[in-house]
Amino acid sequence: MRQENDYLLLTPGPLTTSRRVKEAMLRDSCTWDDDYNLGVVQVIRQQLLELAQVNQDDYSAVLMQGSGTFAVESVLQSAIRQDHKILIINNGAYGARIAEIARRLALSHHIIDCGEMRQPTIPEIEQILQQDSAITHIAMVHCETTTGILNPLEALAQLNQRYQKTLIIDAMSSFGGIPINVAELNIDFLISSANKCIQGVPGFGFVIARKTELEQCRDRARSLSLDLYQQWRCMEENHGKWRFTSPTHTVLAFAEALKELQQEGGISARNQRYRSNQQQLVAGMRQLGFATLLDDALHSPVITAFRSPQHVDYQFKRFYQLLKQQGFVIYPGKVSQSDCFRIGNIGEVYPQDIAALLDAVKHSCYWNI
Ligand SMILES: *Cc1c(COP(=O)(O)O)cnc(C)c1O
Repeated sequence: MRQENDYLLLTPGPLTTSRRVKEAMLRDSCTWDDDYNLGVVQVIRQQLLELAQVNQDDYSAVLMQGSGTFAVESVLQSAIRQDHKILIINNGAYGARIAEIARRLALSHHIIDCGEMRQPTIPEIEQILQQDSAITHIAMVHCETTTGILNPLEALAQLNQRYQKTLIIDAMSSFGGIPINVAELNIDFLISSANKCIQGVPGFGFVIARKTELEQCRDRARSLSLDLYQQWRCMEENHGKWRFTSPTHTVLAFAEALKELQQEGGISARNQRYRSNQQQLVAGMRQLGFATLLDDALHSPVITAFRSPQHVDYQFKRFYQLLKQQGFVIYPGKVSQSDCFRIGNIGEVYPQDIAALLDAVKHSCYWNI
């Protein structure tokens, strides 16, 4: 059994990282020295472009301090002018967060609200694009971590080939775990963060952006620290230097996590592992009598929402504590309309971990006894 405080995080970030990734942080770096900027930051930026399958002549990777939301906010407030209008596709807490950012920034926006249990359809998106020619940008979450639903990125990208809007994708919980060809899909801004499928520790987000779009962000940002254009120019002109204090230890951990990803066999191999984790989890939970919130066809290989047992004695808190005592931390539900809990399967998590978790779940169904 794991020690108190040493449990497996079955959550979609922060997640369980390897010992190697944690040990990479046992060094201090100078933020002005070449060893760090050229040797680590620039290498990371280049590797991110490779993972996104883009060319460095057309795209650039900009790193941004803070959690993933800071990077999303940085894109929205650096890319969208007051006379622009953004179409926001919302089917969960993270889509709603984009809408909230737009509201706070007083951006002109239109929200397609799908509820939390279904994907947006292409005809409903197209209808809005046809009706409202003021729309200049489209934002969608790829994997909506709220439920684990995977949104139709390829189909949206195809639709957008015809409408040519600026496409902003929150791929926070999918980039690194699901192959995404950013160039082929013509994504203008793809946003993700250090502590999800790349399997680093929290501390910064990153944006893979089309350079022609970045150029246009000059002087648009409403805030100093989240100015994506200035951050990009600083990193370009000073060989990887961040404008303000960089999260050096997190960056070292991330560099190590990227090496691990490569050694695992890249994104496709990681995707395979996540998929088998998720399938094993769902099959095992169903055997124990649990039901998934969503149909299998809608699922990402990242996180799964399960309906709460309907037994009068069931309480999430007690179930959670029993699992935690056995070394596993799961995630409460974030879905407002349905009573559920969630189990993530990304991070340093392997089939034997899922098997051990299922065993722990079996021993934690106190309401069945
Ligand atoms: C994790 C996540 C975010 C960012 O959340 P933070 O708590 O700011 O890191 C944004 N979108 C999605 C889809 C996520 O999974």
